[in-house]
Amino acid sequence: MTIKENQSLRPFNTFGLDASCLGLIRIYSVEDLLDVIQNNIHPLRILGGGSNILLSGDIPAYILKNEIKGLTIIEEDENQVLVEVGAGEPWHQFVMWSIAHGFAGIENLALIPGTVGAAPMQNIGAYGVEQEMAFDKLRATHLTTGTESVFTKTDCAFGYRESVFKNELKDQYFITHVSYRLLKKDYTLHLQYGDIQKTLTNMSVANPGLEDVAAAVIEIRRSKLPDPKKIGNAGSFFKNPVVDATKYDELKLLYPEIPGYPTTENNVKLPAGWLIEKAGYKGYRSGNIGVHQLQALVLVNYGGGHGKDIQNLAYEIQEKVWEIFGVRISPEVNFW
Ligand SMILES: Cc1cc2nc3c(=O)[nH]c(=O)nc-3n(C[C@H](O)[C@H](O)[C@H](O)COP(=O)(O)OP(=O)(O)OC[C@H]3O[C@@H](n4cnc5c(N)ncnc54)[C@H](O)[C@@H]3O)c2cc1C
Repeated sequence: MTIKENQSLRPFNTFGLDASCLGLIRIYSVEDLLDVIQNNIHPLRILGGGSNILLSGDIPAYILKNEIKGLTIIEEDENQVLVEVGAGEPWHQFVMWSIAHGFAGIENLALIPGTVGAAPMQNIGAYGVEQEMAFDKLRATHLTTGTESVFTKTDCAFGYRESVFKNELKDQYFITHVSYRLLKKDYTLHLQYGDIQKTLTNMSVANPGLEDVAAAVIEIRRSKLPDPKKIGNAGSFFKNPVVDATKYDELKLLYPEIPGYPTTENNVKLPAGWLIEKAGYKGYRSGNIGVHQLQALVLVNYGGGHGKDIQNLAYEIQEKVWEIFGVRISPEVNFW
């Protein structure tokens, strides 16, 4: 085991924020992880691609950088395939691998940054699909006992950008392998969400295949979301809040143009980006940090910004949205 001391975390988070840690340890296998646990190294933090964290200051912990790789087909028949993926594999690469093999289920999740191991953590989702729709199970190692457990879909308690690992079991398990069940035939493409159908039409694709759907998603994402290589960000900073129908009706009277998407008979999801924009924060800038000019849901570091300032801006936005609309928005990003 090698501990790299005095390692800045700046290259390891998409906000591009500078912060120190006690040391960085690269984990290539479950054995590497057990080595850390047996040597009683703590406190520990798990890092994937750093695309969903906000470093609000120096981190008084050892960082376990997930490098567990590998893709293994566990089961296969004429209809489907069960594939186990090392949690340190880049998510987008896994999506492209599945498409290249003609395996369906995660094509709408192309270009989401980060690792496979972090995908169940917040049940990543985009364009009408969440990873839980293809998820089968995962293996995780307990960070103090070193015991390995298998978590089924039910155990993971997936919700909208939620799982048991973000709640009751927060920072307790290192997810080492995730299995997905992908379809070889008789699958339905999800084209109705966002601009997918429109983009396919613009691309002159009449009968789309998996590659076409992923290409459309990639094109839409590139046109809408800032590239973290150019402007530091962690994608959507807040989750879209869900309110009951009565609250939605009240808001609709005050703001007839407010968008809303029913999730159940009595609940409506509101776009957090719309609320933030209406609160006047779209394009807001304070020194080196701010809110993206085109995407009110994306907080940004223009370079040299501090995590603490982004955190304070996030709190300010939350308060303002509450004051104006009486709606609580909560962060999707993990504060470290
Ligand atoms: C430009 C951009 C666009 C994005 N678009 C989307 C989107 O469309 N949909 C979406 O859902 N998300 C999106 N995200 C957020 C992010 O990409 C996902 O949440 C991704 O799954 C994070 O992966 P990561 O490896 O970078 O996790 P990290 O940021 O490294 O970690 C996130 C959290 O998970 C924990 N964690 C990481 N790996 C493990 C593990 N192996 N075991 C246990 N805990 C672990 C960490 O401790 C941390 O608390 C976007 C981010 C960016 C920057």
